[in-house]
Amino acid sequence: MGNLLKKDFKYWNNWRWQLKNRIKTPEGLKKYFKNLTEDEEKGLKLTAEEFPIAVTPYYLSLADPYNPECPIRKQIVPRYSEIDPKKQISCDPNALEEEGEIPHLTHRYPDRVLITLTTMCPVYCRHCMRKRKVGKPERAITEEEFKPIWEYIKKHTQIREVLISGGDPLVLSNEKLFHYIRQLKKIDHIEVIRIGTRTPVILPQRFYDEELLKFLEEISPVWMVTHFNHPKEITEEVSLAVKNIRKTANPVLNQTVLLKGINDNPQTMEELFRGLIRIGVKPYYLFHCDPIYGVVHFRTPIEVGLKIMSHLRGRVSGLAQPIYALDLPHGKGKVVLSPQYLVKKEGRKHYFRNYEGEIVEYEF
Ligand SMILES: *Cc1c(COP(=O)(O)O)cnc(C)c1O
Repeated sequence: MGNLLKKDFKYWNNWRWQLKNRIKTPEGLKKYFKNLTEDEEKGLKLTAEEFPIAVTPYYLSLADPYNPECPIRKQIVPRYSEIDPKKQISCDPNALEEEGEIPHLTHRYPDRVLITLTTMCPVYCRHCMRKRKVGKPERAITEEEFKPIWEYIKKHTQIREVLISGGDPLVLSNEKLFHYIRQLKKIDHIEVIRIGTRTPVILPQRFYDEELLKFLEEISPVWMVTHFNHPKEITEEVSLAVKNIRKTANPVLNQTVLLKGINDNPQTMEELFRGLIRIGVKPYYLFHCDPIYGVVHFRTPIEVGLKIMSHLRGRVSGLAQPIYALDLPHGKGKVVLSPQYLVKKEGRKHYFRNYEGEIVEYEF
């Protein structure tokens, strides 16, 4: 394994090589990580049976083999905490992202639908909200399964946007990916294509593929929404991937998940969002971690997120401010969370708290 991690390795920059050489077993991870904690040891034995493991050699190379507190390590090494019955709370995870009558299609908001083209991801993030649906087995949808999805979208003319997700749609071959997107573009009322993908972060080499870049340029604009959680993920390789996407005339946005022990403090978030706008990525959402079986050990109180948002306001460029939101259970949709800035109202007098904590009167 060791020598595969050398960046001068002949195939390092080839995304197919990265995918083919993913580390997918507890034994594979044990070779890399030196001082496993009890939680990790037990996780590699028990959790790994329930939720899949995978990590690209690239993303693994960012992890600290010696420090269990490493934010990359925590996103890829299974821990017993994921399935520990003592840590679970009552929730209805089945209601989240519930599919309707058409498999692989979720139509929650009137003007947009979410479709999932594959169950495969380059990396199985330990905090994944879809972790029970991904990776086991790794399977792309078939043409026969795509047909009813396409027909549904064609028939419902109020749909203006298709959000392509997974799994990670960028693991599909160019041929398949181009085909599905071209089919969707043929529908007259589809104005927007959005791709939800973590590949820029965990497999940046995907965007060194000239054929893909040419296609992205041809179908521009596609809204690329990626998923950075920590400043350590902003590497030279990733900056190049983002630059390549932006050269194709497509915007790049980011969704972060608030994760205990990884990014649940104002300084880390400030560094992350500053880093993102520096490389041309707009922070879009900061999601509160959902109460889903397998991820509850990553949850923080809402106050932690609100404190982060207060910290950013006024101190950090508006460009670097995401929307803090949570997903309601039973498919009830997203709710925006914000610190209170209107603190009091007396007749026409309104009292606002500014970013420095000062109360300012404003008469309407
Ligand atoms: C989050 C989500 C969307 C997209 O919502 P935006 O606020 O537009 O980003 C669409 N469909 C489903 C089912 C979702 O969960």
